[in-house]
Amino acid sequence: MTTEFLRYTLDYAKQLDKEDILRDFRNEFYLQPNTIYMDGNSLGLLSKRAEKTLLESLEDWKIHGIDGWMQGNHPWFFMAETLGEKLAPLVGAAPEEVVVTGSTTVNLHQLVSTFYQPKGKRTKILADELTFPSDIYALQSQLRNHGFDPEDHLIRVKSRDGRCIEEDDIIAAMTDDIALIVLPTVLYRSGQILDMKRLTREAHQRGILIGFDGCHSVGAIPHAFSEWGVDFAYWCNYKHLNGGPGSVGGLYVNCKHFGTMPGLAGWFGSTKEKQFDMEHTFTPAQSAGAYQIGTPHVLSCAPLLGSLEIFAEAGIENIREKSLKINQYLMDLIEHELPDMGFVIGNPREDIRRGGHISLEHEEAARICKSLKEHGIIPDFRAPNIIRLAPVALYSSYAEVWQVVQVLTTIMTEKHYKKYPNTREVVA
Ligand SMILES: *Cc1c(COP(=O)(O)O)cnc(C)c1O
Repeated sequence: MTTEFLRYTLDYAKQLDKEDILRDFRNEFYLQPNTIYMDGNSLGLLSKRAEKTLLESLEDWKIHGIDGWMQGNHPWFFMAETLGEKLAPLVGAAPEEVVVTGSTTVNLHQLVSTFYQPKGKRTKILADELTFPSDIYALQSQLRNHGFDPEDHLIRVKSRDGRCIEEDDIIAAMTDDIALIVLPTVLYRSGQILDMKRLTREAHQRGILIGFDGCHSVGAIPHAFSEWGVDFAYWCNYKHLNGGPGSVGGLYVNCKHFGTMPGLAGWFGSTKEKQFDMEHTFTPAQSAGAYQIGTPHVLSCAPLLGSLEIFAEAGIENIREKSLKINQYLMDLIEHELPDMGFVIGNPREDIRRGGHISLEHEEAARICKSLKEHGIIPDFRAPNIIRLAPVALYSSYAEVWQVVQVLTTIMTEKHYKKYPNTREVVA
């Protein structure tokens, strides 16, 4: 036996698990028997620590009633800012530049309401044609609110191959009629990482503000938003950050913009000391906290307190290192075991350009996903032809990845997937 052959054995996978410095974090999560979860990029799993901080917050309500705002395990009045401080290292920001509030789409509305200030010739918004639909809907409606037609005012950079967006093409589209740029950090389908540092520099050289949607990157890859000078960012906390379904989102505003009046103001954006003066003159906080609107959704924030402890202990650099390695392992196995089965690996291959999931394309993707599920493997499907597989650094093992590819091989060779229609479910 050659070592090359050994690389594709279960023993080899088990050896990688033994050497994995993050392996113990797996015990922190609720993993279901006979199930391999490959969908942490869509909805992260519950950890025992997230459960604990949620239950403690319920206890605070039970015991303290209204006084839970200032008392108890996790006083509610400060929870959004406290969570912002804990999240800041994951996005490379100062503690006061991040707050936990709203949802991805709501935060995008807030940030565009605040930072899209069309003037003279500069009236357009630049996005890309592969971005998440909710972002496009939000941008279109913001343009309409300003009396502009999204048909000619929302510019979408085209993809050359239907998978990735070239930074050169984005830069070429940064013309002098663009007021604002909104792009993903990581594309939700292909998993491509955009070069945020370069794009921010190029935008600023042209006098354009730039913000990023970090849904598919926060918790999976490191960021340096402050160092890069990114103007704003927003993301959800229920994907790689395991905050729970509908978990409250994240919002970052560069400190150079503190003091910019929120486009959508509300009393929770007030400086903390003034909020309960109940004046009709709004005094916004001098922090990202200013961009909150109303009362925080405490019970949908609370799990994040525990979840973010895990990220602090594991370290985002270690998480990224394992994520790259375990995703590479998955790609290697797929190419070795399934060379002639019609699969195409659609994500970029270079480490600096790939995020935390694999984008596996196949004509029969919808029904292959159904078959995987029947075999206890949870992927997700993105129409028309993508199977997304996300081995997650904190709770996926190399042995599981090995198993996934074994099952996939069986499904394909035995044509097991053919018993399902090749259509998506309502929630895919
Ligand atoms: C998941 C996701 C969203 C979801 O937005 P919500 O407001 O949380 O529903 C938006 N954008 C991207 C890129 C996403 O991946």
